[in-house]
Amino acid sequence: MPISNKINENLANASWIRLMFEEGERLQKILGPEKVYDFTLGNPDTEPPPAFREMLKKLADNPLPGMHGYMSNSGYETTREAIAANLAEKTGIQVNSSHIVMTCGAGGGLNVVFKTILNPGDEVIVLVPYFAEYKFYVDNHSGVIKEVPTGADFQPDMDAIGAAITSKTKAIIVNSPNNPTGVVYSSDCLEKLAAVIKQKESEFGAAIYLVSDEPYARIVYDGVKTPPVFNYAKNSILVTSHSKDLSLAGERIGYIAVHPEAADVGLLIEGMVFCNRTLGFVNAPALMQRLVAHLQKEQVDLSGYLKKRDLLYSHLTEIGFKIVEPKGAFYMFPQSPLADDLEFVQLAKKYNILLVPGKGFGLKGYFRLSYSVPLQTVINSLPAFTDLAKEAGL
Ligand code: PLP
Repeated sequence: MPISNKINENLANASWIRLMFEEGERLQKILGPEKVYDFTLGNPDTEPPPAFREMLKKLADNPLPGMHGYMSNSGYETTREAIAANLAEKTGIQVNSSHIVMTCGAGGGLNVVFKTILNPGDEVIVLVPYFAEYKFYVDNHSGVIKEVPTGADFQPDMDAIGAAITSKTKAIIVNSPNNPTGVVYSSDCLEKLAAVIKQKESEFGAAIYLVSDEPYARIVYDGVKTPPVFNYAKNSILVTSHSKDLSLAGERIGYIAVHPEAADVGLLIEGMVFCNRTLGFVNAPALMQRLVAHLQKEQVDLSGYLKKRDLLYSHLTEIGFKIVEPKGAFYMFPQSPLADDLEFVQLAKKYNILLVPGKGFGLKGYFRLSYSVPLQTVINSLPAFTDLAKEAGL
């Protein structure tokens, strides 16, 4: 076999994603794109803020010498300063440029973090349901994920987390606002989580890093806030990107920020800069670094996402779906009316609705719906959802 056994196994396990994608393409060819309601993808469907294009034009018109060359593996000092200043303002903590590593998106950043901290067999706790790539990112660097169920409304279950931590636990990933559920963790929740971790750190005499994956941090509704993890846990590592908040997903620009008082902070960052280089990222894209340095206070217009969330949430709950109301990101995670979520997702295809089964996020009996789609798709899909709900027995 040309590919490794592990990759072959991963391909087989993830085949439903491919099947769903192929099915979407097939249906669109037959019916036309406006008659296919594809809610599977998490690609931002809103444009970057005007300030992005203005800065891009300005930079193109006034090129700097050597601006397309390599730079320090941690990224431009000026960009890291701008990000650190923004974080310091938000948290009141003395974050400076030395605590920031520019990365190729949050995905690149998470790989750098796990490459840096994991020894073979080390465990990383993930809260179910979770972004499926975590499993691969951790496995890429010889770690193993440990799935921990969440409690009511998909909020972290502190007892379950406490019970899951062992001497092998190196990190816990939290993702708020969450993909796939859209739930947001409150300051009370982070405070309790930090207390559980602290207690286990003293029990095992080792640092347990709270890795906060937060590419959706600025995509929140209804006045909800996303409290910064730095204010709760010293051993915290923030990983984020501008994929969603500036709609730059294809540009691969993100960063890691390490809490200035994290255990072995200097060595940790030195390791991350080395891993950014040796994983082959070398450095985050140069042009994007120049731009985002000026865009730390900017974000995409959220009104479109909000409108689509409201339309879908109110219609789906009205016709009988059970859903935890999403307060952020652009996903919702309703309960599947059929016990088998795969069967339900197959049934939805009959109505030209494409969804992702909960199984893909480690939780059977649910499905994920991304409303990062054109508003018209949402509007057109509502009668189809009504028919689907009826056939599924709601
Ligand atoms: N983390 C979560 C929860 C995501 O949903 C995504 C992308 O959808 C990523 C990380 C990776 O984002 P990126 O690498 O584009 O920053």
